[in-house]
Amino acid sequence: MAFVEFRDVSKIYQMGEVEVAAVRAMSFQIEQGEFVVIVGPSGAGKTTLLNMLGGMDSCTSGTITLDGAEVSSFSRKQLTKYRRYDIGFVFQFYNLVSNLTARENVELASQICKNPLPADEVLASVGLADRVRNFPGQLSGGEQQRVAIARALAKNPKLLLCDEPTGALDYETGKAILKLLQDTCRETGRTVVVVTHNSAFCSIADRVIHVREGSVAAVEVNEAPLSAE
Ligand code: ADP
Ligand code: ADP
Repeated sequence: MAFVEFRDVSKIYQMGEVEVAAVRAMSFQIEQGEFVVIVGPSGAGKTTLLNMLGGMDSCTSGTITLDGAEVSSFSRKQLTKYRRYDIGFVFQFYNLVSNLTARENVELASQICKNPLPADEVLASVGLADRVRNFPGQLSGGEQQRVAIARALAKNPKLLLCDEPTGALDYETGKAILKLLQDTCRETGRTVVVVTHNSAFCSIADRVIHVREGSVAAVEVNEAPLSAE
């Protein structure tokens, strides 16, 4: 069994009388330790897919498994634990607590975890060893995203999920963030999934899942992915 499996997963949103099929009968797999890019135009269902994988949204039908556990049949209580212990989240707009320092932001997340990694160690691994005492407002966009990545990694999660992590950054800064995510995956063996509408990311992924109109249009496996530089 693959590390992540989507089997015939659908998500229907009920908008009054109207049904919106955000995801329709999606099936794909992800192997442990892969750097995965999920790519497709706006509205294709990428965020819905990621939210279901992260236990933030339920599917209407189908099965989702992570590391042998059937996430799609979890109770509310199990989902809360799953989000807390198993998944690290990185968003487009960082979502840091503005009146806490970088170190405190990371510690906040690791306090609620089972096997957290030391905050300063993780901050050093994302290149912020000398910024641990800074508040988000004193950091650049790229640095704030590094703090957000450190916060997610400090949970020591099975899976790191990133929704448009470069969406708010300029080209060079975004590239550096992608390189960091790729390096993290290579060096720690952690499985990393990045959602983006930008097909420029595809060449650096081990696996690319192309999503269109709620369906998987194609899956590419790169035997020799490029380094993100
Ligand atoms: P993407 O991330 O690829 O831009 P989304 O997953 O956000 O796509 O959205 C897929 C489709 O589902 C879109 O048509 C969107 O309008 C719809 N959708 C997403 N979330 C909701 C929701 N909470 N209620 C109703 N429709 C939604
Ligand atoms: P746009 O024209 O939509 O702004 P760009 O081509 O400037 O798109 O790239 C936007 C994002 O794509 C940037 O955040 C950058 O990080 C990423 N990107 C583009 N090409 C590469 C690449 N070869 N390697 C890594 N990231 C890339």
